[in-house]
Amino acid sequence: MRRDERISPLSTTPSWVPEWEDLAAADPEIADIADREAGRLAAGLQLIASENHASPAVRAVLASPLSMKYAEGYVGQRFYPGCEHVDRAEELAVQRARALFGAEHANVQPHSGTSANLAVYAAFAKPDDPVMALSLAHGGHLTHGARISFSGAWFTPVPYEVDRATEQIDYEAVREIARIHAPRIIVCGGTAYPRNIDYQAFREIADEIEAILWVDAAHIMGLVAGGEVPNPVPFADVVTTTTHKTLRGPRGGMILCRGEHARAIDRAVFPFSQSGPSMQAIAAKAVALREASQPAFKDYARGMIENARALADALAGHGARLVSGGTDTHIVVADLQPLGIDGARAEDLCARAGIYLNKSAVPFDPMPPRTPSGIRVGTAAVTTQGFGAGDMVEIAGLIARACRGEDPGRIAADIAGLVARHPAFPVGGSAPGGSDPGGGIRRGGSPA
Ligand SMILES: *Cc1c(COP(=O)(O)O)cnc(C)c1O
Repeated sequence: MRRDERISPLSTTPSWVPEWEDLAAADPEIADIADREAGRLAAGLQLIASENHASPAVRAVLASPLSMKYAEGYVGQRFYPGCEHVDRAEELAVQRARALFGAEHANVQPHSGTSANLAVYAAFAKPDDPVMALSLAHGGHLTHGARISFSGAWFTPVPYEVDRATEQIDYEAVREIARIHAPRIIVCGGTAYPRNIDYQAFREIADEIEAILWVDAAHIMGLVAGGEVPNPVPFADVVTTTTHKTLRGPRGGMILCRGEHARAIDRAVFPFSQSGPSMQAIAAKAVALREASQPAFKDYARGMIENARALADALAGHGARLVSGGTDTHIVVADLQPLGIDGARAEDLCARAGIYLNKSAVPFDPMPPRTPSGIRVGTAAVTTQGFGAGDMVEIAGLIARACRGEDPGRIAADIAGLVARHPAFPVGGSAPGGSDPGGGIRRGGSPA
């Protein structure tokens, strides 16, 4: 057989596809854990805004032999032989990313959002340089200058905050802080910021002080792919994203940048901060990018936002206060102070019933970080399962009941009815996003 010859027809299961039974026999403990986790996902409501259900196609390629290949370097310039096939996967991922987001350059190798962000610091800043970003307490990310992260330990964080009244970014304040501190990099984008960002305003501020404008779009790139929120790429020097949040691909990161920064970014990823790339993850990114470029994904992106708005309104109806008054994205941050419960307690009570959401600080939070006033919920995963706005009203009711301390067993019973209509892993599952989304456990039975 020639080394590049196909070993099986495309439409049948190739001999190299792993069998669940192989794992179950070799390591029943881990097989049991994986199946229980599938059961937890299937039985509960996944409202952690960062999480999603990747498609069967994405998960299939993650388990492929592409994971075995060492391919340090870039397409056509690898440090090992035998990269002709993985090269094509990386080429496709790069092409699809560039086409989908209109980017001059894409690097699809970062292992995670944090790895992508580390590379951006490495490309544009020297140790101790001032880097300006939304404060963690106001919705920024750990990698935006928190002292417990490399970003705050190795660089000089210059935080900006949201306006006290609107709880949205105060662009005049950003301009003033930028003029005073002259940061090397200005970062916008966050992890608990539910609103669209005025990229043009940030571009003008960055130009004024000759800073690099970096948009950390980790959460929203799926919404961008669907054309439902503004695309930061035309405005930014560099955009980083995860591939596993609203983009619904494999766990990983990606960097999009202007052509003039291509070399700096590529070198900052490899060899500066990573060595061997995960070729199975890169191929899975290509699969996810193809999915995200299809018309159905636009419906998915719109659905995430419609669901977030419905969930926000319904939570407000139960007495929660919406941070910034609402949402433009898949993220809702709700202040529970009017309900007399803190976010940590709400997180715990909800989790006991099978509703997974997370505690979150609200801007100018009077409570300490361990027991902040709010919760963050996101609609990426439930929208993949096919839930609609009416279901969000029910979900808000379940959250409110959990927060009141109702018996978790009773709430879980009602969740069972909801998830039966929209299973996370439909048996014989098809492509995600439609009425029959998300799952596809082809072998090994359906989870609990
Ligand atoms: C999730 C997130 C990251 C980090 O992604 P990981 O893959 O968890 O490392 C970075 N920035 C923002 C804004 C995020 O929301």
